[in-house]
Amino acid sequence: MKPTIPVSAPACDTPDPGLLTVVQAQTHIQQFITPVEATTNLNIRDALGRVLASDITAPINVPSYANSAMDGYAVRSADLSNQQPIEFNLIGTSWAGKPFTGTVASKQCVRIMTGAKIPAGADTVIMQEQVQVQDHLVRIGAGHQTGQNVRLPGDDIRQGSALLTRGKKLGPAELGLLASQGIAQVAVYRRVRVAFFSTGDELTPVGEALRDGQIYDSNRYTLTGMLTQAGAELIDLGVIADQPAAIEQAMHSAAAQADVVITTGGVSVGDADFVKAVLEKLGKINFWRIAMKPGKPLALGKIANAAFFGLPGNPVSVMATFYEFVLPALRVMGGEASRAPLLLHAISKSRLKKSPGRTDFQRGVLSSENGKLYVDASGMQASHILSGMSRANCFIILPQDSGNVEAGAEVEVQPFADFV
Ligand code: AMP
Ligand code: MG
Repeated sequence: MKPTIPVSAPACDTPDPGLLTVVQAQTHIQQFITPVEATTNLNIRDALGRVLASDITAPINVPSYANSAMDGYAVRSADLSNQQPIEFNLIGTSWAGKPFTGTVASKQCVRIMTGAKIPAGADTVIMQEQVQVQDHLVRIGAGHQTGQNVRLPGDDIRQGSALLTRGKKLGPAELGLLASQGIAQVAVYRRVRVAFFSTGDELTPVGEALRDGQIYDSNRYTLTGMLTQAGAELIDLGVIADQPAAIEQAMHSAAAQADVVITTGGVSVGDADFVKAVLEKLGKINFWRIAMKPGKPLALGKIANAAFFGLPGNPVSVMATFYEFVLPALRVMGGEASRAPLLLHAISKSRLKKSPGRTDFQRGVLSSENGKLYVDASGMQASHILSGMSRANCFIILPQDSGNVEAGAEVEVQPFADFV
């Protein structure tokens, strides 16, 4: 009789059960982050990109008075006829900012400009193109409607209604909205402080000559850009050599002055060991292998009171892991409500190579042709090809279990616009 060989159940969702899915990692990250609580009052002019720390109720109606949507003539609608033209006496003008102060009586009209107050008595504006004027007589044809071309008080914003809610990131529209309400200052959360450094004996800072076997440190610049767009306060701690003592010192200093510490490099299996030892001594750190490409290794946890993200070293991996893991965390820490990623469907113009097992974040160029979205791969898909990131305008997100994608197939994309 043949011995029975025990067969273990196949791994649930990945060929390598040691890998964490992207969604699992994103979920775990929530437990390491605490939103900042401190707030500051800013003039609205200085508040672009900041996050509101309180709800704002509209103090006034906008528009605050009934005004004209057109250049024309203000009349009483009761005087208009559905059958024949009617003649009105022109009794004055209402300018934007210089209202007509009298009252419009029967068969009278007032010349009115866009944005000017509707005079007392009037309720309707006839466009100037639709009337005939002779001296002080204005002839208005049939078929106009009561209230036409009049913007009513509170049409846009009603006094006492919710204008903006806590957690809203202030963009150009919000600055204008606040100004339209006469609100000069708002309470916003303080920026999230992020300290970051690069690790690697091969790294040369920009401005110095490159020696044999060295590369320039590009990650700190990519991070500078991404963190600035994320609205963070930056603490750049430079390049730290692959030496445990130096790394430990930098970690201490970073955690003491920031809410978040980000490092790049030194978390992959090859050279991670002493970095790992340093981190284990300093805090509660998880060393993850994430089922994503690029960006498999990721360290995450806490050092003192700071959240810690140990990103991979390869430049494209840094950007992908930042956008997918760090940015959502920074948004929540900064007081923003968490938001679902902007995922679109596009038709792949090219064949995309992929092996099952990890979620791919391939770099793509999204375009629209005749109202349809298409995406093309942005050249070589390796984690050191930073130029591909520059050519791309989206990630093509290929699900963990999928294999190659044929040209013409529909794929999911996340535009880089979702990251700003
Ligand atoms: P590591 O995870 O430290 O093994 O780094 C992985 C790859 O990324 C190596 O080829 C490194 O040289 C490269 N790398 C690490 N840090 C940087 C950096 N700051 N700028 C550019 N490339 C980097
Ligand atoms: Mg390294």
